[in-house]
Amino acid sequence: MTYQSLNPFDGTLIENFTDLSDVDFEVKLAAAQTCFETWRHTSYAERAVIIARAADLLDERADELARTMTLEMGKRIGEARGEVAFSARIMRYYAKNAERFLAPTKLDPTVGEAHMESSPIGVIFCVEPWNFPYYQLARIAGPHLMAGNTLVVKHAGIVPGCAIAFEKLLLDAGAPVGLYTNLLITHEQSDRVIDDPRIKGVALTGSVAAGQSIAARAGRNLKISSMELGGSDAFIVLDDADLDHTIPWAVWGRMYNTGQTCCAAKRFIVVESLADAFLTRFQAALEALRAGDPLDAATTLGPLSSEAALVQLVAQVDVAVAHGARLVMGGKRIDRPGAFMAPTILADIAPDNPAFRDEFFGPVASFYRVKDEAAAIALANDSDFGLGGSVWTKDVARGRRVASKVETGMMFINNIDWSDAELPFGGIKNSGYGRELGDMGIQQFVNKKLVRTASMPAPA
Ligand code: NAP
Repeated sequence: MTYQSLNPFDGTLIENFTDLSDVDFEVKLAAAQTCFETWRHTSYAERAVIIARAADLLDERADELARTMTLEMGKRIGEARGEVAFSARIMRYYAKNAERFLAPTKLDPTVGEAHMESSPIGVIFCVEPWNFPYYQLARIAGPHLMAGNTLVVKHAGIVPGCAIAFEKLLLDAGAPVGLYTNLLITHEQSDRVIDDPRIKGVALTGSVAAGQSIAARAGRNLKISSMELGGSDAFIVLDDADLDHTIPWAVWGRMYNTGQTCCAAKRFIVVESLADAFLTRFQAALEALRAGDPLDAATTLGPLSSEAALVQLVAQVDVAVAHGARLVMGGKRIDRPGAFMAPTILADIAPDNPAFRDEFFGPVASFYRVKDEAAAIALANDSDFGLGGSVWTKDVARGRRVASKVETGMMFINNIDWSDAELPFGGIKNSGYGRELGDMGIQQFVNKKLVRTASMPAPA
């Protein structure tokens, strides 16, 4: 069984789900293809009615949707409500702006006239992770449906309730059958979806391992793909940083969503002169967090998404320590029921320690003390990942100079306000390729066609 709702706060089973049968698999793929043949010819205004209505339904159902998320993957209820509201904003943003983003653009050839026009390419297969169960879906549904494509979506095995709720939302908003289809499928069936000739593009958000498998499969089929993978973002504290401003962001950056965010601050790189003060205050702030029921708005530390995630994270910390890292705090599960990990800080991580390169997907901060700005940049770039990062300084011009030298897809100065409907999101290196959100996000799965008009004789 691939899909199961299990509450990580107390281990109770909410519901088991059956994998899609091969007969239903074919029915759903056929419906997505049939729907594309009509949806591709609808106007932006017609599409926008459905997508904007889905945004309204996200707002109307916010309490129920947030609760489903909290029960399935343990996100604290306030964060869950925030995610639902943000998902609605993304859908509304594309309903409003898609036509502008995809309008023909004029080119300037030496002879004649030319323009680029955009058209949908077909059924897109999306594979999504559990850590943002609705935001990830809004990030693909808003742009790609507005572009005129149809979607078949495989969500993560631990959030089937969220996956089904999002599909229902679109159907209730008036989506024709086949426009957005949730598939409760295995990895083997996922491979078959990628191989299917009706599928024209593949989008994954997930781990590097999933990216390697899914991108290879898409590549073998010569299908366009976008990969939003892991990260190990640097949080660079320069010698002139304002710690009163920086410390709360450090805590938020590492602990939001219980640390299970691709672009979370994971490597804290602090210039020598501030290192002791930063570490003392960061540790004190993490020690103040209290584990509790994620449905209780007063809880400041939620569980991890699953028992398996907790076991894996604790094992990763053990390996780091076995290779010489120093445990400043935490390092083990909290002695209480549920998948709770103690907030953890690791220091003295040598370059040959696996912890130096690996992603910690949970409340584990890696702390590095460096001599100066140049050393901070060099360490930030000594990573297989390249998703995001941040710089903390009172001198914004200096912050921008440092940001330009860090090799990632996104950099933030004196904030880590990661994601906005308007701003492209994505990385380089092992963090993947392609962008979601903003104008760039909607261009990912459209045919950019050149049309040239010129009345000239054929060359002799
Ligand atoms: P994961 O194990 O890769 O799972 C992500 C999705 O991929 C799930 O739906 C999973 O299905 C599916 N999947 C994994 N291997 C597959 C395969 N071989 N064939 C078909 N489907 C496959 O990742 P995760 O642990 O759930 O999520 C955390 C990772 O995602 C972290 O590395 C995080 O940094 C990254 N992430 C990146 C972004 C971004 O925008 N860059 C955003 C969020 C998360 P099952 O659940 O059924 O295995």
